Amino acid sequence: MAPLSKAGAALTALREDLTGGVFAPGDPGYDEARVVHNGMIDRRPAVIAQCVDEDDVVRAVRFGRELDLNIAVRGGGHSVAGMALNDGGLVVDLRRMHEVTVHPAAEAVRVGGGATMSHLDRATQPYKLATTGGRASTTGVGGFVLGGGTGWLDRCCGLAVDNLLGVELVTADGNRTHANADENPELFWALHGGGGNFGIATALTLKLHELPEFSLALLLYLPEFGPEVVRTYRDLISVAPVEAAGGIIYLTGPPEEFVPPHLVGTLLCGAMLTYAGGEQDLRKLAEPLLALPHEAEIVGAMPYADVQCMIDDPPGLRNYWSAEYVSQAPDDFVNVFCDRAHSMPVPSATQHVLFPQGGAIADGPHEYPVPYRDAPWAVHPFAAWEDPADDARAIQWVRDVRADVRPWSTGAVYLNFIGDEGADRVEAGLGAENARRLAVVKGQYDPDNVFRFNHNITPA
Ligand SMILES: Cc1cc2nc3c(=O)[nH]c(=O)nc-3n(C[C@H](O)[C@H](O)[C@H](O)COP(=O)(O)OP(=O)(O)OC[C@H]3O[C@@H](n4cnc5c(N)ncnc54)[C@H](O)[C@@H]3O)c2cc1C
Repeated sequence: MAPLSKAGAALTALREDLTGGVFAPGDPGYDEARVVHNGMIDRRPAVIAQCVDEDDVVRAVRFGRELDLNIAVRGGGHSVAGMALNDGGLVVDLRRMHEVTVHPAAEAVRVGGGATMSHLDRATQPYKLATTGGRASTTGVGGFVLGGGTGWLDRCCGLAVDNLLGVELVTADGNRTHANADENPELFWALHGGGGNFGIATALTLKLHELPEFSLALLLYLPEFGPEVVRTYRDLISVAPVEAAGGIIYLTGPPEEFVPPHLVGTLLCGAMLTYAGGEQDLRKLAEPLLALPHEAEIVGAMPYADVQCMIDDPPGLRNYWSAEYVSQAPDDFVNVFCDRAHSMPVPSATQHVLFPQGGAIADGPHEYPVPYRDAPWAVHPFAAWEDPADDARAIQWVRDVRADVRPWSTGAVYLNFIGDEGADRVEAGLGAENARRLAVVKGQYDPDNVFRFNHNITPA
C-alpha cells in the first residue's frame, strides 16, 4: 500500500481523469455502488472506478498498480462468492460499458464488458438472432462467457465459449490487447473458461445463430410425482433434437397467475422444456410431460428475450450454490435427487435444478478448459433466501445435495455455478492438464496475480 499522501494525490488525479465515476468510502453513492446480487456479501473497497470506456479501464488499472492495490473486476455482479468486490482494494466496475453492436450479415455481436444478458438478448432479438446466454437477464455477459456459459440454447448452439470470436482486453500492466484465433491464440484459448484471470475484457465478440422462433412448456407438479416427472423428462430429452433443452426445477410455488393459489408457497416440481423452434413441434415433444397430472402450465411461443427473464430472482437475497456434474441419471439417482427436494428451504427462492447437457455441448471443441462438457447432466442446488437465521440450514442443504449425488459425479464442475470451494475445485473446473497450461498463460499476462478475485489460477 502506498503512503497516504501519494494515495490521496493519485485518487484526486483519478477523479479528474476518469470519464466515469469514482467512489471512495464516505462518497455519496458509495454504498449503492458496492451492492452485488448476493445479499450475504458486504465488502468495502477502497475505491470503485465506474468506467465508461476502454480508456477509463486503462486509467483505473494504472491507478491500482501505482498504489499496489488488489483489483477486482465487476461485470453483472452475479458471482455467488462476491468476486466482483474486495475489501480495501480497487474495483473496476464495468456496468456502464454495456453497448451492444449487432452485425447481422456477419452473424456476430460485439458486447461491452459490462453488458448484461438482457442488453445482449434485447439487441439481437429484432434480427431474429441469438447466442447462448445465461438463464437470468441480469447476469453479466463478461463473467458468464469467460467462465464457460450455459443456457437454454446450449444444446443447439454450444457453450458460450464455443461462440467466442474475440476479446478486447486491458491486461495487468494497464495495456490494451486483443485475443482471437489469429492474435494471441494461447491467451484466446485461456479465455475459454479461465474467467477473469488474464485481464479485463472491455468487449467480447460472439457468434450469433438464427432463432426465428422460440417456445417453451413450463409445467408444475405436486412433489410426490417428482421421480416420475424426472424420469419422463430424462427419457424425453435423451432422444429429443438438440433444439430442446430446459431442465427440472424444484421450487416454491410462485405467486403467479398461472399457479393455483393453494399451491403458492409450497414445494413443487417444475419441468421446463424449451425449444428453439415453433409451438407445434414443442407440444409434440412435450406430450409425455403434458400427460402426467400437473397443477399448472404455460405452453406456447414466446420471444426468447422474454423467456430469459422468466426466472429472474430479485437482487439482495442471500445466496449459496454449488454443482455436481453426473455421468448418468439412472432411476437410483433420480430418487436420490428427488428425495433431497423435500428438505429444501421452502418457502424461499431456492431452486433444486437438474439441467440436461449433450447435443452441441458434448460435440463442441474439446480443446478448451471446460471439462464438464462431456457430462450429460448438471445438478445445481441454488439456495436463495431472505432471513440470515436460515443461513446454516440453506448452506447445509446445498452441501447435502452435493454429497447425495457424488456417487454419480464425473468430478468436473462448471466454476460459474459454484462459490469459493478451494483450489481443488478450481482444478476440477478447469481440468488438471488445462490448469497447468493456464498457469503458464497467467504467468505471462498477470505474473503478480493482480486479478485474483476470481476462480484463481496461480501464475506459473
Ligand atoms: C440468478 C443467476 C442466474 C444464473 N444463471 C446462469 C446460467 O443460466 N448459466 C450460467 O452459465 N451461469 C449462470 N449464472 C452464473 C453466472 O454465469 C456467474 O455468476 C458469472 O460469473 C456472472 O458473471 P457477472 O459478470 O454477472 O458477475 P461478476 O460477479 O461481476 O463477475 C464474476 C467474475 O467474472 C469476472 N468478470 C466479470 N466481467 C468481466 C470482464 N468483463 N472481464 C474480466 N473479468 C470479468 C469478475 O471479476 C469475477 O471474477 C447465474 C447467476 C445468477 C446470480
